[in-house]
Amino acid sequence: MIEFKGVSKVYPNGTVGLKDVNITIHKGDFAVIVGLSGAGKSTLLRSINRLHDITDGEITIDDKSMTKAKGKELLRMRRDIGMIFQNFNLVKRSSVMRNILSGRVGYHSTIRTLLGLFPKQDVELAMNALKRVNMEEKAFARADELSGGQQQRVSIARALAQEAKIILADEPVASLDPFTTRQVMDDLKRINQELGITTIVNLHFVDLAREYATRIIGVRAGEIVFDGLVEEATDEV
Ligand code: ADP
Ligand code: ADP
Repeated sequence: MIEFKGVSKVYPNGTVGLKDVNITIHKGDFAVIVGLSGAGKSTLLRSINRLHDITDGEITIDDKSMTKAKGKELLRMRRDIGMIFQNFNLVKRSSVMRNILSGRVGYHSTIRTLLGLFPKQDVELAMNALKRVNMEEKAFARADELSGGQQQRVSIARALAQEAKIILADEPVASLDPFTTRQVMDDLKRINQELGITTIVNLHFVDLAREYATRIIGVRAGEIVFDGLVEEATDEV
């Protein structure tokens, strides 16, 4: 369970990213955050795994404070959170396998990692993750040989191989065509249902949100303007 308690975020230049946000996201939710560009969706998502710090309030995950976590505790909490970005964030010249396992880099000695010598159980973990997104045949392809949709599915596999309990996806389909968009959203949804991974996705299309979400959170100018079930969401959010 992820809880925002009076969360505000003001950027160093004075821009208000979030204003007194109070929301609760439950285990297993497929929550979609909707709002126009600049509404604060990304600010909200990045606050959860502390890609940036908030300026007021507190965020807790399973009653543990993400806001106050430090050092090893922070690393542990972050390890449970997989992040998916609009631009895929893969190392283009590296293999799919290496991209996936570099998320587990803390587990290996540097020289083995550099040589691409990953422990057998990690390779199996990566292959299982790739199977979930139908990408096992591309395990040893270079990331930049893949289409956008394929790259995004690899980044989903990376989150799975990290054994994430929470997946945060920041506009994961914004640079994909309509067909590929559905493939990626279907993958996210299936994984959410099969593995019970709490999933939070930023989207700027309400239609797509309605189709996939169990819960819709509407953001406008840093404030929550809607928080509820899909059936209750109007086109206004
Ligand atoms: P969204 O993801 O909904 O498009 P963002 O969370 O990226 O919105 O942005 C929310 C607001 O914060 C916008 O006004 C944006 O310009 C501003 N903002 C985002 N990142 C920064 C930053 N690093 N510094 C200053 N302002 C920022
Ligand atoms: P860079 O700092 O080179 O731009 P990234 O954009 O990949 O690197 O990462 C930005 C931040 O996001 C870093 O703090 C990194 O630790 C974090 N990050 C990257 N990938 C993930 C992930 N899968 N899950 C959680 N955090 C991530």
